[in-house]
Amino acid sequence: MDPGIAVAASRRYNYPVPDLKVMLVEDDPAIRSLVAEALGRWGYAAVAADPEGDVAAEFARESPQLVILDVGLPRLDGFEWCERIRAVSRVPILFLTARSQPSDAVRGLAAGGDDWIAKPFDTELLVAKVRALLRRAYSWAPEPSALIERDGLILDRERCEASRDGARARLTAHEATLLRALLEADGRVVARAELMDALWSGDAFVDENTLNVNVARLRSALGSIGAGEIVETVRGAGYRLK
Ligand code: CA
Repeated sequence: MDPGIAVAASRRYNYPVPDLKVMLVEDDPAIRSLVAEALGRWGYAAVAADPEGDVAAEFARESPQLVILDVGLPRLDGFEWCERIRAVSRVPILFLTARSQPSDAVRGLAAGGDDWIAKPFDTELLVAKVRALLRRAYSWAPEPSALIERDGLILDRERCEASRDGARARLTAHEATLLRALLEADGRVVARAELMDALWSGDAFVDENTLNVNVARLRSALGSIGAGEIVETVRGAGYRLK
C-alpha cells in the first residue's frame, strides 16, 4: 500500500468476531480521508487501496470484508475493478457514484456491486449502508442498534462498553442504562425521576441516593477514557451530557 495514502486509525472494537476491514478505492484524497475517518469512528479498519495501482491484487492481499469503490478512477474505472473482484470473491461492494451520472448506479449494480451511494454523501448514511451490507453478508456482524454515538463517545449496549478515541471502559448494566438515557437525550436534561424509572422501573423503595452512586460510578468509568467531565449535574433537575 502507498504509505502516502490516508488510512484511518485502526480503532478496532474487541468484538468476538473477525476484524472488520473495509477497503476503500477512491482517488479523491478529501473523500478518502472523510470516509476513512467515519469508518474509524465506528471501529472499522479502513485500508485505502492505491487508485493507480492494481486494485484487484491489493484486494487479494488485504482480503477485506467489504469494498467501497469509486466509479471514476485513473487506471481502470470502478465497474472494471468490480468485475475483477467479483471474479474471485462475493465480498460486499458499495459504489460511490457521481450524482450527475445516475446511470452509474445501474452500471455498478450490473457489474456486481451490492449497493451505491451518490456523492456528495452524508457519512452517517455511508456507515449505515456499510453496516447493512456487512450484516446481510456475515452472520457475525453486530446489530447497529447496539451502538449509540455522540461527539465521539460510543456506547455499545450489547457489550456494556463505552469507548472514545479507541479507549474502552466496561460498564455495569446500570451504568450503561444511564449513559444510554443521557446519550439519547442528546444534551437535553434528563430528570432524576426519569433516570430512576429507566433503572428501576418505578420501584418506590429505591433510595434516591442510589442514583447518585450510580452516576458517580458512571463518571468514574467515563473518566478512565477521558470523558469524566461529560456528565453534568443540573441542580434541581437532573443530568445532561455536555
Ligand atoms: Ca474519482
